[in-house]
Order: sequence, then C-alpha cells, then structure tokens
Amino acid sequence: MIVVMKHGATARQIANVIARIEQLGFRTHLSEGVERTIIGIIGNERPLDKEQIVRWDGVEKIVPILHPFKLASRDFQPEDTVVSLNGIRIGGKAVVVMAGPCAVESRQQLLEIAQAVKAAGATILRGGAFKPRTSPYSFQGLGLEGLEILAEARAQTGLLVVTEVVSPDQVPLVGTYADILQIGARNMQNYALLQAVGKAHKPVLLKRGMMSTIEELLMSAEYILSQGNERLMLCERGIRTFETYTRNTLDINAVPLLKQLTHLPVIVDPSHGTGKWELVTAVSRAAVAAGADGLLIEVHNHPEQALSDGAQSLKPERFAELMTELRRVAEAVGRTL
Ligand code: PEP
Ligand code: MN
Repeated sequence: MIVVMKHGATARQIANVIARIEQLGFRTHLSEGVERTIIGIIGNERPLDKEQIVRWDGVEKIVPILHPFKLASRDFQPEDTVVSLNGIRIGGKAVVVMAGPCAVESRQQLLEIAQAVKAAGATILRGGAFKPRTSPYSFQGLGLEGLEILAEARAQTGLLVVTEVVSPDQVPLVGTYADILQIGARNMQNYALLQAVGKAHKPVLLKRGMMSTIEELLMSAEYILSQGNERLMLCERGIRTFETYTRNTLDINAVPLLKQLTHLPVIVDPSHGTGKWELVTAVSRAAVAAGADGLLIEVHNHPEQALSDGAQSLKPERFAELMTELRRVAEAVGRTL
C-alpha cells in the first residue's frame, strides 16, 4: 500500500505519517518526487485501517499495490533511479555501454581489450575473474589475479569495472576491486548472495536467471533493495526457450515492461542473449530502440582463442562500428551515447 500525500504537504505532516505507520509495526519508504510525496508501507500481511490513515493530516489517498515487489516498484518510486558513479549516470539520458571479455584471461589480453573498448566509447569495462561455469572442468577464471588485472586496466584507462561475485563470503574481496558487483544469471535466486550484496556499499548489476520470470527478477531485486542498497540495475540476458539456433532468446519485451513496472535502470546483454556475435549488433540496436539504459557486450581481441564465450564475442573493430551505429539509434529515440 502507498500513502499519497497532498500537494504542499509539510515536512512535519510527512514525518508524522511516517512515525504513525511505524508505530503500527510497518516499515516505510519515502519517495519525494517533484510531483508528489509518496510513503510506501512495507511489512507483513497484517491488515491496516485505511479509513483511519486517510484522515491523517496531509494525506490525500491510499493506493493498494498489487505487485508482490514493493521497493522495486514504480508505484513506490515514480522517478527513475539513476545510479551515479564517478560522473557516469546509469539510468539517465545517456545509454551506458559496458564492454570487455567474458573472462579475464591474462594481463595482456585484458589491457588490450580495455584500450580498444575505451577508444570506441565504452565507459565501463566488463570481465569475469570468478566464472560460474556449467562444467567444473571449464576455465573457472583467474580469481584474485583477475581482479588485480581489472584494477590495473581501470588505472590505465579510467574505465569503471563490473565483475561477477559468486558467493557471499567473496563480496568484500570483489568489492574492493569492482565498481559494480555483477550477480550472474545462475545466482539470481541465491538469496544469501543477494542479501550480501544488499549490504555492500557498491552498485549491483542483477542479471535475470535463464529460467526466471520478470516477477522473480523483481523479487530478487527486492532482496537487495530491502537490505538498504538502492544502487541497483537489472539486466535482461536472454531466457531459455525451445529455440536451439540461438543460445538464449533475448526477451525484448522485458525492456519496456520493466521500465513500466520498476524505476530501476535496465541493461541488456545481447551477447548471452544470442550466443552469436553475428547477431549482437542487430539486437543491440533493438535494445536501445526499446528503451534500454545500457548494454553489456562481450568483446575479445582473439575470439577464436577465447577461454569462454568466443562465439558471442565481437572483435574490437566490429565493436567500434557497433558504437557508431548505436549513436544514431540512441539519437532517434531521444537518448545519447
Ligand atoms: C557473463 O556475464 O559472463 C555471464 C556469466 O553471464 P550470465 O550470468 O548472464 O550467464
Ligand atoms: Mn560470458
């Protein structure tokens, strides 16, 4: 349920309403928009006396929330969340591009790719140091050495770093190297991990599970938000369908739908969404046209030798062309890049 305050409600009236709701044993979430102030009520399923609340000073109306997610919902916070990080605004007018290899494989590999994606206009460098692979025999990432290489690339290029964290006990370690903590598709419902990043003081990129509904994604977002971390962005990376020509089916519907349901920024990963580098450019264009706030794209200088996801990685030259094309699409939909 949300309490919508009257236009011009005073700070005192707002504080009073919050205090009284909390006295009743509920938590509150305050959203002070340009248009109106909204107080979200969070708590167990206990009934609330709406007739009583609506008579409190400054209250205009009470609106029930039909979604099971609260803090993530647009009803609770009508304004877009903008995650600001070293001058980069994720969720604002500019479309943000995060690019780099699937995994950090070596110092030379990462530094070369970092320079190339930076020159093409990316602002955030991606690269896994801890890789959650389907097979225990596949390359698992360089671990700590990978994190150190990512930090070196950041120092050299000024790019920010997004990298995956796979277990709750590693959150402090990865957090000392990463600018953004990535939760992978396989961990979208790892609730202990979600709670751990919810307590971290770093922005989080939460990827949709490969077999998860949009509501499940938003409930996972709720886990992070409810721990106090509001610097959160969502990522559509394709879901599993009956189609076999592509690795996943990128759910383009998710972009405008999420923008409707939630105030959180929406990022699209066309690399995992398709599994084929040949499709990445077209799907990236579609994502920006559909309203994505950013893209997460795999780029490799020698895709044929990549230790993971070579088939879906763009070469740096192709990535640079893609950036040029994306600028035109962004402009066509009132965004910049
Ligand atoms: C990745 O970004 O390299 C990755 C492992 O993605 P996902 O979790 O979406 O499979
Ligand atoms: Mn990958």
